[in-house]
Formats: sequence, C-alpha cells, structure tokens
Amino acid sequence: METKFNKLNISDKDSNLENINHGNCSYCNKPFTEELWCKLCDPFRMIEGWTSGNNDIDKFIKGTIYDARNSNKYNDRFVEWVSFDKFKDIKQIGEGGFAKVYSATWIDGKAEYEKLIDGSWKKREPEPLKVALKRLKGPQNMSIEYLNELKTHWNYNKPEYDYTLQFYGITKDPETKEFMMILQFANKGNLRNFLLNSFNKIFWEDKIRYLFWIINNLNDLHDLEYFHKDFHSGNILRIDEYSTYISDFGLSGPSNKQKSDDKVCGVLPYIAPEVLNGEPYTSSSDMYSFGVIMAELSSGKPPFYNRKHDITLALDICNGLRPEFGKGTPEIYKKLAHKCMNANSNQRPTATELYDIIYFWDDCIKGSVYYQEKEEYGYKGKEVKAAFKEADKEIPNISTSYKKNPDAIYTSRLFTFNNLTKPVNSSIITSYLDIEENNKDNQDSQLVDLEVSSSLSQLKVTDDASNESSN
Ligand SMILES: [Zn+2]
Repeated sequence: METKFNKLNISDKDSNLENINHGNCSYCNKPFTEELWCKLCDPFRMIEGWTSGNNDIDKFIKGTIYDARNSNKYNDRFVEWVSFDKFKDIKQIGEGGFAKVYSATWIDGKAEYEKLIDGSWKKREPEPLKVALKRLKGPQNMSIEYLNELKTHWNYNKPEYDYTLQFYGITKDPETKEFMMILQFANKGNLRNFLLNSFNKIFWEDKIRYLFWIINNLNDLHDLEYFHKDFHSGNILRIDEYSTYISDFGLSGPSNKQKSDDKVCGVLPYIAPEVLNGEPYTSSSDMYSFGVIMAELSSGKPPFYNRKHDITLALDICNGLRPEFGKGTPEIYKKLAHKCMNANSNQRPTATELYDIIYFWDDCIKGSVYYQEKEEYGYKGKEVKAAFKEADKEIPNISTSYKKNPDAIYTSRLFTFNNLTKPVNSSIITSYLDIEENNKDNQDSQLVDLEVSSSLSQLKVTDDASNESSN
C-alpha cells in the first residue's frame, strides 16, 4: 500500500528539540523558567521539554494536555508521551493484518493530577498498570493513516464517551523507531476467542448484554460521524466480565473525508456486499458487519470458516449468501440480524435504532417487571424473555468443534474485486424481512432469487460439524 510517508515532515532524532517553537510557555505565555519549559504551568514536564521526534505527534499529544489544562473539569483526560523504558514485561499477544499488539507493565501507570485551589497541580502516586501496546507494522507507522487512527481514537475517547477503550498515550520503540499506542488492556481477550473457548457456557442473557455494549460503542462512533470500516469479532475486546469495547480505528474516520481511491479492506465475511462492489463505505456498512457478528454470537463459529475467503465467496455474498445461525436461535434475533445484513444498505437499521431494540431486549431478559407487559417492536417483554430462555436450552448442545479452511482468513487484508454482481437478497433473507421492505426491493429480485437458491444449495453450510475434528 502506498503511504504518505514522504509527505510528512518527520524528524527522527529523539534528542532534537530544535524544531519545536520555544521561548515562551504556550500556556501562560511567560518566558520559560527552565530551559525548555515553564516550571509554574508544567511542573512535571508533561507538555514542554520533550519531543517524540515527530512534529505532528508532538502537536497532537500537547494539544490534548493543553485542552485538559484549560478544561474546567476536575480530572479531564489527555494523551501522554511515555519513554519506552517505562515499560517492562513486554510480550507479543496478538498480530492483526496491519499491527502487532503487546502486553506490558507500565511502571508508573497513567499520570493523574489533582488541581489544587491555588491552581497548581498535585501528581498522584505512580501505580503500575498493565496495558496493551499497539505497533503499526512497517512504513505505515508515522503515516497520515496512523495519525488519523490516533486522532480518531482520541476524539472517540473524550470524556463524554466514557464507555470506550482507553487510549493513554504514545511511546516509541528506540530500536525500530516505531511509535506504539498505549491502550487499555483487555484482560479477557477478544470476542472471537471467547466464543471459540467458552461458547457452551454463554447464555442468551450474556450474549444480549455483549451486543448491548457493542452497539452502544458503535452508536457513539456513528454519533461522531465516524465509520469503523473494519468491524469484526477480533477487534471487539472484553476488558472484564462486563465491559466490552470496540477497538482498532486504523481505518476509521470522519464520514465526510472519504477518499475515492479507497481499496476494500477488512475481514471478508464481515464486509458489506456494496463495499465489496466498490461502493463508498457508509454507516450502514458497519451495520452489516454488526449483523454478521450477531450470527457469530449465535453459532459460536466465525462466519464462513469452512471456505476459502476469495472472490468466489465475495460473489456468493453479493448473491445473498449469509452466515449460519446456531440451533435454537430465536426468530426475532435472526430477523434483526438479517435486517442488518440486508443487501439494500438503505434498509438496514441505524445504530440508534438497534441500540433501542437491544436495550429493550436486555431489560426484558433481565426480567424487569415494567418491561414484561410492555410491547415494543411488535413483541411483548415477556415474549422476548420466553424466546431467549427457550433458546438457552440448546446452548449446551450446540457443537463447537469445526474444521477451519486454511484459506479462511480472519485478519484484515486489502482486496480488489472486479466483476462482482449487484448485491441482492436471497429468498431466505427476504423471508425474514418485512413485507413492505420486500416491495421496495429490486424489481428483478425474484429472478435473482432463483439463481441464488441454486447456488445456495451447492454452498449449503451444514450446522452439524460434530464429526469434524476441532481446530
Ligand atoms: Zn507557564
């Protein structure tokens, strides 16, 4: 992939402070009391007197600290620059398409300050913190895309969006000169591995709660007019038993800043058919991925695990092929997931609509008395609860063993597909969608349904993989 590496004015000399504009404190505008910083405003040399070696990254980090200082809030967040020797026990824990992730102990932990009445800062006692370090691979490091990820994650992480993966700061590996994001550590790993390891113990009450966290995060992202653009179960992280956050904003960005030369990027089974087809990414493309994640929560298996992730699969998805659901999955759940995976992107629910429905389901299942007689989205609370309780009976019986095709690839990649067909719904999908929505479908959908049914029968994915050995 071509990078904008050369267009950036990157200084790579760690100790080079010349290119920072100094002389006066940029906070109080008085001359610096120490060589490169103001002792009064910046007693811990958080803001001035250091450089990451990259002007854009310096500007970004310092901007967040100035904003926090100027904020009236007692304890506003900011991004820190942290020297690499402040980390120990660094171990690689994951590798995605474009990044490597490490766990590490941050010896001092996140810097926290109290503002005292006289306006001065009091730093709290340092406390070691387990964190994740994310390193973008190769020349993409320091690219415009990387800066974009930093800014996107930060905008998303601001205090009003409190239930999001924390972005603490940035460090730099002195050997490779690569920058690394310092992120909240997910003790419980990602959703995909959790499903693979614990599926038979995860009942519907929990599944719906995870979905609630995920849609809440996605809704916040869409509120900012950002799209995720690489949404799959591998970048949904479980911090603890309860908190589940979305991560990896490398491809995300403001919706109005789409490039026309965007290549298709992501994990193939989660990419919306219109995007495979070269159409611009929209918020409803994220909703498609959400529908695929709903199917995965239901079946416990990654979508299309048993086939090669290539142009043939892309073509089948355009022709209406969708991932399987687990045995016993409530019809209302399948219906909602299929609405998300509608081939007509403008007929998919928005994140806000989905948030409302899943919020309702969550309350119904928890058994809140108020919700039992309440009817929303065509179902009474007690009916919703009964459907999911009934579905729980199948969970221990659902086979979790399966054999993954070696060419089923679940890390993000770049794709270029030519000669795909216009996305359509199969008759299986339309049977789940509302009648009035079907009427809005393409006029030729019946014709296409015929072709799809025949291709679907060849591609039929069986639900019973119990004879196959575990992967
Ligand atoms: Zn000052």
